[in-house]
Amino acid sequence: MSSSNIKPLIDPVDIDSTNLQTHCAELNVANRKLQSRLDELELFVQINSSLSLVLDYKETLDTIRQFFLAHFNLESFALVLKEETREMKVRACFGRDTIEGQIVDYNSDTFFYKETFEQRKPVYCRDLSKQNHCLKWFNSSQGSLLAIPLANKILGFMGLLLLRRPMSDAFTGSEIDFLKRIGDHVTSVMTRILIHQKTKNLAFTDELTGVFNRRYFNQRYAREIGRAKRYNRRLSALMIDIDHFKQYNDTLGHIMGDQVLQHMAEIFENNIRKADVISRYGGEEFVIILPEIDAARAVIVAEKLRTVVENSNFPGTEKLPAGKITISIGVASFPQDGSAPAEVLNEADKALYMAKKMGRNRVVDSSMLKEMQMQ
Ligand code: GH3
Ligand code: MG
Ligand code: MG
Repeated sequence: MSSSNIKPLIDPVDIDSTNLQTHCAELNVANRKLQSRLDELELFVQINSSLSLVLDYKETLDTIRQFFLAHFNLESFALVLKEETREMKVRACFGRDTIEGQIVDYNSDTFFYKETFEQRKPVYCRDLSKQNHCLKWFNSSQGSLLAIPLANKILGFMGLLLLRRPMSDAFTGSEIDFLKRIGDHVTSVMTRILIHQKTKNLAFTDELTGVFNRRYFNQRYAREIGRAKRYNRRLSALMIDIDHFKQYNDTLGHIMGDQVLQHMAEIFENNIRKADVISRYGGEEFVIILPEIDAARAVIVAEKLRTVVENSNFPGTEKLPAGKITISIGVASFPQDGSAPAEVLNEADKALYMAKKMGRNRVVDSSMLKEMQMQ
């Protein structure tokens, strides 16, 4: 193609001052649009690069929070997520409208609920002071609020983004469109994180009882011993085994036996602290790590668990020779029983063996074991 074929942007014949002004104005508008598209693209690149490699739940939430804090001129922000319990909770926020961990009474606002949850559509309240369907759990009734649902076909409705500015009518149409697209991006990031978390939980959870499995125990136990060493703290381990469990299975069947295991895990969970870690170690064996707890206190915990189990009602126990289900527990502690994770656990196992030998339904700790061995 010869250069003479190229049509100039502005025909020289047309050049007069009015025309030039119009062209200039058009170019300015086009430039502004381009600039704002560029700004948007840059923000997309930023949120993408800061979130694409993160797999940690808390870190992701914090990165999203920082992103909204830095770029959108908001007075308040909340990321509300639907929990496994179906409750809606504020998981990341800034500003005065919500607090982290707050449970959101989402269904109480019918209009809001219908639009965001059922229709999966954003809600824009131009002026909160004039809104009669004002969110009861939200601290502000001033300014403008944009609520963007986070939902997709994979996980369904996941939660909401709530964005507020102090003035009424403060979001423009194109901003709302852009924020909706950012919302889509947050949705896909959260989907990846939640699926990753669920897979991780499955890999570390015992299917029957819901407590941690042995794989998780091995990692966590080594970490806890490491921490105890670094900070010069105590730690105890309880090795628990159900007495004559084979007899129970043989008499009442494996399905009933499985229910006993589930009930047993529940009993343990209800009688230990949040900081303690319970795992199913093998068939009818559980192990509990008690961080910060020395041997003497660990024996008290073990004795409590033993008593609660002995006094619990399990179905069909009248058919057993002993008429009840009991457990035996071996207790060992760091640092007195060793400094390597395996050493401490080995001592707990030996103490458990001794508890069985001494007649079952009892707690033996490693110091008792050593005394007995010396006699
Ligand atoms: P002890 O007092 O010496 O511990 O006797 P025990 O019968 O409990 O011990 P043993 O090791 O002889 O048998 C363990 C039994 O635990 C064998 C099996 O029937 C039962 N068991 C292990 N895993 C499961 C499980 O997942 N479900 C059920 N129902 N039973 C299990
Ligand atoms: Mg056993
Ligand atoms: Mg047993």
